[in-house]
Order: sequence, then structure tokens, then C-alpha cells
Amino acid sequence: MSPSSSAAPDPVGSPQPAGPVEPVPLALAGRPGRAPGRGPAKPPRHLADLPLPERRAVVAGLGQPPFRASQLSRHFFGRYTDQPEEMSDLPRAGRDELAQALLPRLLTAERELTCDAGTTRKTLWRTFDGALVESVLMRYPDRVTMCVSSQAGCGMACPFCATGQAGLTRNLSTAEIVAQVVAGARLLADGQVPGGDDPPKPARVSNVVFMGMGEPLANYASVVAAVRRMTDPVPEGMGISQRSVTVSTVGLVPAIARLAAERLSVTLAVSLHAPDDELRDTLVPVNRRWKVAEVLDAAWDYAAATGRRVSIEYALIRDINDQAWRADALGTLLARRLAHVNLIPLNPTPGSKWTASRPSAQREFVRRLEAHGVPVTVRDTRGREIDGACGQLAASARS
Ligand code: SAH
Repeated sequence: MSPSSSAAPDPVGSPQPAGPVEPVPLALAGRPGRAPGRGPAKPPRHLADLPLPERRAVVAGLGQPPFRASQLSRHFFGRYTDQPEEMSDLPRAGRDELAQALLPRLLTAERELTCDAGTTRKTLWRTFDGALVESVLMRYPDRVTMCVSSQAGCGMACPFCATGQAGLTRNLSTAEIVAQVVAGARLLADGQVPGGDDPPKPARVSNVVFMGMGEPLANYASVVAAVRRMTDPVPEGMGISQRSVTVSTVGLVPAIARLAAERLSVTLAVSLHAPDDELRDTLVPVNRRWKVAEVLDAAWDYAAATGRRVSIEYALIRDINDQAWRADALGTLLARRLAHVNLIPLNPTPGSKWTASRPSAQREFVRRLEAHGVPVTVRDTRGREIDGACGQLAASARS
């Protein structure tokens, strides 16, 4: 896919209403889920697509008291259920009708894979129209992170990323994004994920990272609405702290500026991967549209607007971007900025000629960044054996 077409669909457009996604004809042409000559099929409406007043209006339209919208919302966002038989506070008559109208099943688990003694769990989901997306739950002693997908596939075409190889199928709706987190929360609440305290006790999803499939800022309206649903208090949403949500982007500059104006306290992660345009043009093709300097300027504006430290993502690829001089160049760009670097040892995708950096090169990279006073961490590689690690979410249903 060419960079100009892959830089679509929605980074610069005017604000769209939250909810089911708008047609994106260019990116979706010829993909499943699209009837010939019509727009892409829309996921059914779900209460997580709507702000609470609109949920009330739907309930009133069914001839039921509007406060039932809050009851339904508490079941979904607070008790993580969409099953009418688990909603004993709702009169039996009308329960099914409400659930059908506002809690359609959006995601069906096609496959679950676990590793790291059960503390990492990847789910392959099938959407209503047969698209496949993945989410990963990672339980640590002190937190639980859900890595969610924002699109089925991705149009950004980064050559080292498994999702990027497959191209874009379609944007996910707000509720399809939120449902991934609710599903993880349900597993935790049911005590199905080991780890954490000993003996294990039910935990909550504490962190959400938009680092699954897709480019979140290319599905802007649905992603921002999903962040609000995750972080608004019950019954509006799930009540996760905004500061614990990270939106990761290839660097869609107008969309970063727009996000900075949303008054959200979410962390921005920028997938830089190279300090120089010559290399970044090849590793992150959208760099041909927005250069390193522009991307970083947008990131510093974001940091200034939100007071939040920006995370600079850098996958270390052996002999490609891990040279000492590139560490110095990166250090120079980031010194004295509100930023930290997250180094990710490359997870080679199947058939890739690239591999992770040598340990000595990685150590030297870290040392040089630190010498510039830049905080740096090396990402842990949870989920590797189940292709659940960063960049490996390719949503194949292979066995
Ligand atoms: N589209 C968003 C989210 C992508 S996934 C973005 O690009 O930021 C989150 C991170 O994993 C990104 O930094 C991405 O560049 C990185 N990544 C992708 N493939 C990888 C791989 N094979 N090894 C290591 N990191 C990878």
C-alpha cells in the first residue's frame, strides 16, 4: 500500500460523532464485510458507542423508563456482563428487549492462548462481519495491562510489523474497542487469570495501551470515544484512570494536535524507530508525509498541553537502527524534553530478514541515551511464545 493511501482515513477530518464507524471507501475497497456498491457493514449499535443521555433516549424509545439505561450500563461497565439472565434488578419482561437493543454481542472469542504461567493471555476475536482482531491481557504483580486493537489490520505498512504486512480491513467501532477491555475485566473478576497477589484475588484492569492491531489515530473519533468510555466513571464508563491509558501512534501530526486539544490526561506514545528521516521513511512509511521534526514538535506540544511525559517507542533492529551514532542522534533530539524512550527488542515477524539487536549494541544504545540525560527503559517481551508480543498481532486463525 502506498504511503499516501495508507495515511488515510481520519487523522485530519472534522470531528465525527462517536459510535459506529463511517465508511472509509479507499482503505476498505475489496475487503470482507463490505457489500458491493455500499458502504462497509456497520457493527450493531451498542451502549458503549453512546454517551449515557443517548442510551436513555434509546431506552425511552422502547417505552421503558430511562433509568434502565443506567442499570444496563452498570451491568456492562461495572459487572462486565451482557447476559440478560444475570440482570436480576431488571424486570424479566423487557430485559431481553433492552439487551438486544443496547448490548448486542460484538466480539466472539475464536481462540485464547496463554503463556507466562497464565499471566499473559491473548484472545483472537471475530467481529460480527468476520474480521479478526486480537487483544492481550498482561497481569503483573502490581497492575493489569490490556493491549487493545483499534482497527482490524492496519494501513500504515511498517515493514517490521506483522499487522502492517496484512493491510487494513476496517476501523473498529467504539464499542468493539471497549468490549476488549470489558472482556479482560470479566476474566479478572471471575478469578480466571493467575498472578498478582498470592493467593490470587480478583483484580481490575488498571492500564490500557492502544498497541494492538491498528493505528489508533487513523480511527480518531472511535478511539477518543473509547477512551472516554473506558475512563468515565460507572455507569457512564468503566472508571479506569486516564493517566493509565496510552495511545500509541506512528505520528499522524494533525491528529496528535487534535488529541492534545481533547483535555484528556492520556499518555501519548510515538513510534519513532529512527532519529533520521532517511531511515524512518522506510521503517515507518507515513514519515514521508510527516517528518521526524514535525512529529516530535507535535509530541512536545502534546506534552506541554497535557503535562504528560511522551513515550518514544524504538524497536531495536540489528544493524538497521541500533548504531551508536543513531543513539546519539536520538539523545540529541530528546535531551531536556518531557520524554522517555521505550526500547523494544524487535520481535521478528515470520519470514523477516530483520532480527533483534545484539545485547552489546542494546546496552550501548541505552548507555548513550542515558549520557544525554534521556530516561530509557527496555520493554519486557511478554507473550512472545503466543505471538502476543508487540507487533506480532497478525490475527491469523492458523493452528
Ligand atoms: N500503530 C500504533 C500501534 C502499533 S503497535 C503505532 O505504530 O504506534 C505498538 C508498538 O509496537 C509500536 O511502537 C510498533 O512500532 C511496535 N512494533 C510493531 N512491530 C514490532 C515488532 N515486530 N517488534 C517490536 N515492536 C514492534
